[in-house]
Amino acid sequence: MSQDKQDILKLSEKDLKDYFVLKKQPGFRAKQVYLWLHEKLVDSFDDMTNISKDMREMLKEDFYIEHLELVQRLVSKIDGTEKYLFKLWDGNVIESVLMRYKHGNSVCISTQVGCRMGCRFCASTIDGRARDLTSSEMLKEVYTIQNISGERVSNIVLMGSGEPMDNFRNVVDFVKQVSSENDLHISQRNITISTCGLVEKIRELADMKLGITLAISLHASDDKIRRELMPIANKYSIAEILDACRYYFEKTGRRVSFEYSLVASVNDTIEEADNLASLLKGMNCHVNLIPVNPIKERDYKRSDKKAVEAFRKHLEKKGINATVRREMGSDIQGACGQLRKSYLNG
Ligand code: SAH
Repeated sequence: MSQDKQDILKLSEKDLKDYFVLKKQPGFRAKQVYLWLHEKLVDSFDDMTNISKDMREMLKEDFYIEHLELVQRLVSKIDGTEKYLFKLWDGNVIESVLMRYKHGNSVCISTQVGCRMGCRFCASTIDGRARDLTSSEMLKEVYTIQNISGERVSNIVLMGSGEPMDNFRNVVDFVKQVSSENDLHISQRNITISTCGLVEKIRELADMKLGITLAISLHASDDKIRRELMPIANKYSIAEILDACRYYFEKTGRRVSFEYSLVASVNDTIEEADNLASLLKGMNCHVNLIPVNPIKERDYKRSDKKAVEAFRKHLEKKGINATVRREMGSDIQGACGQLRKSYLNG
């Protein structure tokens, strides 16, 4: 928030302790305040009922608590998926999704307001990027969904609007914070960062040796087709991306995932599947196939069921693990950025 107050969610318990000591207050207050923020997930200092009124006023003078205002909440009748539209302090809106799986609840968060990567099939990028989200805004996406739904979140995917690697510092801060013992303590194994493939950043992330899963939005097995779908392919070749993925595996021991959105007659032929299998041969990886979710601004069509299944079977035959991603919330504008876009268009 653009004011001289500090973002209190960014502070560690140790930072809070230093603050209270400086204010000549007992250090144990730090733990209390920290619990209110990161365990009870309150939005306001006034909710901190075991903190005296004077102390709450002092905190209000120096800090603000990031707050996301709920604009809309859509619940899928098909699978219980929930889509949230949140308004940020500056009036920008973002969307986040809660998905319910047998193994637990997963939240898909946005990392930027809009996106500047320009992928042709994606609704998030149509109006470009307005700004990066702070790590606290990302935390609040998870916290607010946990508060509203009343359910615990066990997995996080950074697959909403935005390119996480284009907001690297804040994304890494978010991951470290949300996985820390003093926070929600979501295991890094249960956190996935999805990227269109910013090679230098993949390598930088690898060097940090976090335990998170890397997912690459590949969507093509040759550079020419990839360039038609994703402008970023003009900057990095598939070969460079795969090298960076091998490096990621070497450094972290984590299997890399590849996202492949199937677009009818563009990237869904058996020849493409065959190329893909050759490319990924010998890599410890997994391929997620997703029939593209058509957006009204573009005329890409999704591959039919038969083509998707044939593509998957061919990969499997060639020894590549592949699953067809179950579509979640198809009745509530499930695709990246669709809900925000329709809200902005009024
Ligand atoms: N920028 C990151 C993360 C956000 S996009 C990335 O590119 O990975 C999350 C995933 O949804 C990406 O794989 C993206 O290519 C895919 N996606 C976006 N719009 C889609 C659509 N309309 N149909 C299917 N997949 C889509």
